[in-house]
Amino acid sequence: CAVAAVIVARRVKFHSQKCAARKILVEFQEACDTSLLRLRMVVDAMAAEMHAGLVSEGGSTLKMLPTYIDRLPDGNERGLYYAVDLGGTNFRVLRVQLGGLEGRVINQEYEEVPIPPHVMLGTSKQLFDFIAKELVSFVAREGQDFRLHAGQQREIGFTFSFPVDQTAVNSGKLLQWTKGFKVNDAIGQDVVAALQRSIESLGHKMRISALINDTVGTLAGGRYWNNDVMIGVILGTGTNACYVERAEAVSKWGGEIPKSGQMVINMEWGNFWSSHLPRTYVDESLDNESLNPGEYGFEKMISGMYLGDCVRRVLVRMAQQAGIFGPRVPHRLLEAFSLKTPDMSKMHQDNNNDLRVVGEILNSVYQIQNTTLGIRKIVVEVCDVVCKRGARLAGAGIVGILKKIGRDGSAANGVIKRNLFEQSDMNGYHDDDPMQYTSDVKTVVAIDGGLYEHYTKFREYMQDAVFELLGEASKNVSIQLSKDGSGIGAALLAASHAEHLSS
Ligand code: BGC
Ligand code: MG
Repeated sequence: CAVAAVIVARRVKFHSQKCAARKILVEFQEACDTSLLRLRMVVDAMAAEMHAGLVSEGGSTLKMLPTYIDRLPDGNERGLYYAVDLGGTNFRVLRVQLGGLEGRVINQEYEEVPIPPHVMLGTSKQLFDFIAKELVSFVAREGQDFRLHAGQQREIGFTFSFPVDQTAVNSGKLLQWTKGFKVNDAIGQDVVAALQRSIESLGHKMRISALINDTVGTLAGGRYWNNDVMIGVILGTGTNACYVERAEAVSKWGGEIPKSGQMVINMEWGNFWSSHLPRTYVDESLDNESLNPGEYGFEKMISGMYLGDCVRRVLVRMAQQAGIFGPRVPHRLLEAFSLKTPDMSKMHQDNNNDLRVVGEILNSVYQIQNTTLGIRKIVVEVCDVVCKRGARLAGAGIVGILKKIGRDGSAANGVIKRNLFEQSDMNGYHDDDPMQYTSDVKTVVAIDGGLYEHYTKFREYMQDAVFELLGEASKNVSIQLSKDGSGIGAALLAASHAEHLSS
């Protein structure tokens, strides 16, 4: 009887913990609302902010940076090109042998190294010396299969995935750091010149012919294979998008209108903000403890660097207020960024009836043992709310861009066919019959990044949101994973802006 009483007491305790935790869950869920109604407001706000950001400097939460890329690869690129890619969790170097229209990518090789933390938080010299050293030693290992074109020198596409104020296709000043980087003395510096200096200090000479954002690389890499690609998106450690804009629409830009009439715009959508975004206590405390408080709020709701930490913060509240992990809050659970998004995704996608993966991860990361199935279910639901909110907001962002370029199906008579030709203009074609109306212009969105690639539920929630928002028009829009587009894209842009071609 005493034993039975203890069992009953334990059941009552678990029951009341679960009730309290469920209450926290439901409140959080409501605060994270991404109903279609709300998403439509986000779409409109995105399109409006894009517009404002093109008109005046600082006129919008979106930086809308001109990239000086006014022509995209068309398949004719030939020769050996290098790319370096800095901005995510890993640093990459890559070489590609391009064979023109028939051969395309004849050969490619890459190497990837994790960026040491002291390099992400050190000095500018340390950072660029690190890149230069990796690049130079990679170039030194160039094999027989790779060949320079007659009269060609080694040229490099530099993918630098941070906001940069470009002054030319191959120069630009760093505006600020994002994600896990903070190298203070680099802000305001020309990053191409800095890399150039580090390469030279190692006794080498290479030409950096293009400085690009990873979204621009993704757009270029996608366009290389498919002419309908108009938008490049990154959903990885950070998040961002770029797209092909009419140069005339970039009214804040003083430059000459390029022959193509177009300009790729790096939106820096990570910094997008609107009162319609479902912001919660989680977002506030995460922002306060981040390296860039007050900035990149959209990125903090969406990208891989932050999703896991959003989940953790809800779990902390449940541990503190509902005691779901026992009488004391597990110490490590209080540590910011201790729950990584890949672990969140594994818990979220645990298909076992007993949710054993959830139990294993809570145990290995936080030494939390003996969770009940009920508590593990709640943990999965927290992951679901955070994942769904981020994914649906990213989807709304994409539809906002489609709206801005008239590809969301909302134009009364469909899209003017001219757009289709305009996009070909980037490859040098001209349009002689501009005013046909059509409703079946195809638009492809190229996406790269580990979050989109590996987190299946995120990808599905995002696609669902895009299709819900577009309705009928979604038949003309396709979203494609452009794996490694940003690396190849940088090499392709180095090729199309190579010295022997540009003169
Ligand atoms: C940066 C962008 C970048 C994105 C994805 C953001 O934090 O500001 O420039 O494109 O991350 O890597
Ligand atoms: Mg990347």
